[in-house]
Amino acid sequence: MADVDAVVIGAGNAGLTAAASLQRAGVRTLLVERHNVPGGCATSFRRGRFEFEVALHQLSGIGREGEEAPLRGLLDGLGVAERLEFVEEHDLYRAVVPGEYDVTVPAGWEAAVDALEAAFPGNRDRLTRFFDLVRNVTFWQIAARRRMPAEELDPVLFRQGLRPVRDVLDEHFEDAGLKSVLATYWSYLGQPPSRLAFQDLALTLYAYLEFKPWHIRGGSQAMSGALLDVFLEAGGEIRFNTAVTGILSEGGRVKGVRLDDGEEITAQDVVSNASLPLTYAMLGEAAVPTAVRDDLASRRIGVSGFVLHMGLDATPAELGFTTSTSFVNTGLDHEATYAATRTLDAPRGICVSSYDVAPIGFAPAGATHVSLMTLQYGDVWERIPAAEYARAKFRYAEKLLDRVEVIAPGIRDAIEEVDVATPLTMARYLGHPGGAFYGYDQDRTEGWLYRNDERESHVRGLHLAGSWAAMGGFQPTLEAGVRVARRLIRGKAA
Ligand SMILES: Cc1cc2nc3c(=O)[nH]c(=O)nc-3n(C[C@H](O)[C@H](O)[C@H](O)COP(=O)(O)OP(=O)(O)OC[C@H]3O[C@@H](n4cnc5c(N)ncnc54)[C@H](O)[C@@H]3O)c2cc1C
Repeated sequence: MADVDAVVIGAGNAGLTAAASLQRAGVRTLLVERHNVPGGCATSFRRGRFEFEVALHQLSGIGREGEEAPLRGLLDGLGVAERLEFVEEHDLYRAVVPGEYDVTVPAGWEAAVDALEAAFPGNRDRLTRFFDLVRNVTFWQIAARRRMPAEELDPVLFRQGLRPVRDVLDEHFEDAGLKSVLATYWSYLGQPPSRLAFQDLALTLYAYLEFKPWHIRGGSQAMSGALLDVFLEAGGEIRFNTAVTGILSEGGRVKGVRLDDGEEITAQDVVSNASLPLTYAMLGEAAVPTAVRDDLASRRIGVSGFVLHMGLDATPAELGFTTSTSFVNTGLDHEATYAATRTLDAPRGICVSSYDVAPIGFAPAGATHVSLMTLQYGDVWERIPAAEYARAKFRYAEKLLDRVEVIAPGIRDAIEEVDVATPLTMARYLGHPGGAFYGYDQDRTEGWLYRNDERESHVRGLHLAGSWAAMGGFQPTLEAGVRVARRLIRGKAA
């Protein structure tokens, strides 16, 4: 008999929800995590009297209590929602381009139209048509992903879903400022409007406008901890500070894993939350079909980020923060902002999270925790000589501070604690190439209509779950783990 029924490699969002779902369904599961805490990206750490949130800016899919909302439903089903206190944010974001606009978009369909009409008068009808399209494309996208037969799907999905965001916006609006505000969430997906599929931006807008943006008291680490608890309470076992170094297979079928101390664990099924390049490398060349290797080589490692975490000795109001999330850009052209992610030039856009406008409990009274983030590709940082690295990251951090001063003048004077994370930091903690936290570049060729790594691992008993096998981000990866576990369980029953 195998040591366990299933091994899950990695305790990121998808690894945790997969492990919890499997163990609760009676599948004896071992979860192996190379770090010493659960969560992957979904973690936090302490500096002085502050706790710093690593990754979560806005949680989607939670909705208000009593409302049917996808992520709340999923966490409810796992017995986790009741252990968490969700913190609602009332705005999608404040978007600022000095000299062009400073607009706050509320989290609600009609309120968003009103606010955008006030900032860009004469666009109400266009906005209404645009948001109708957002809702329609999302509705049919979800139906398609739930396997509704193609002939029953509304053609709007195929006509509009894969078009670049830029084209759809150009068709609806003339005002460059309004188009820029509406495209702001592109950075949550890592691809600029010319390369991002409209269905992905639509899904993101829908998720926040319909179900509101949320955070969690205790940060994303509280959710990771609660997911681990339900897994352990169901009888699961976790090994921290342990990496899987090999996936054992025989005759095209998985038979277990090898750990970094050489121990081998036998299991019929292995779920990998690690990156695809690492997962297939762990299988060994002989076990991976040439076509899969060629395909992997053709894909682009996705974007990572540079984050400046700050503990500030002032309240959000004293500093000038009015929303939990703000985006400050230097110009209207998101393509130029994206191009800067491949250089160490001053970032053209930053996302500012002020975690005490709707407090998540990470800063003492009278103080606040703020993070500034900009997207960056890992290779830019990999090219910096080791002796230069520390200076480079603090130089770059100063450039983010220059940007945020537009909305929080004098913020530098309130700094009490700082910590900086570069793509190399993400790579070290996650084990992902380039520190990529959404997996591969999420452009139009990576969409679910073209690819489904989650369904096709090419090796029986190997299951892929997380940002490298489907969409990245919190809600998508939490959902992926449950989906993969269900498929695995169905396969066992068949
Ligand atoms: C700074 C930052 C900001 C972000 N902002 C947002 C946001 O606002 N909204 C949003 O939706 N998303 C955001 N994301 C992205 C989101 O956090 C990720 O896409 C998501 O959490 C990835 O989950 P995952 O399941 O793919 O696992 P990951 O979080 O990638 O975790 C993988 C886990 O596998 C472990 N592992 C890897 N290899 C091995 C091995 N060989 N053996 C054992 N363990 C292994 C790693 O240690 C890690 O714990 C952000 C991410 C970061 C880093």
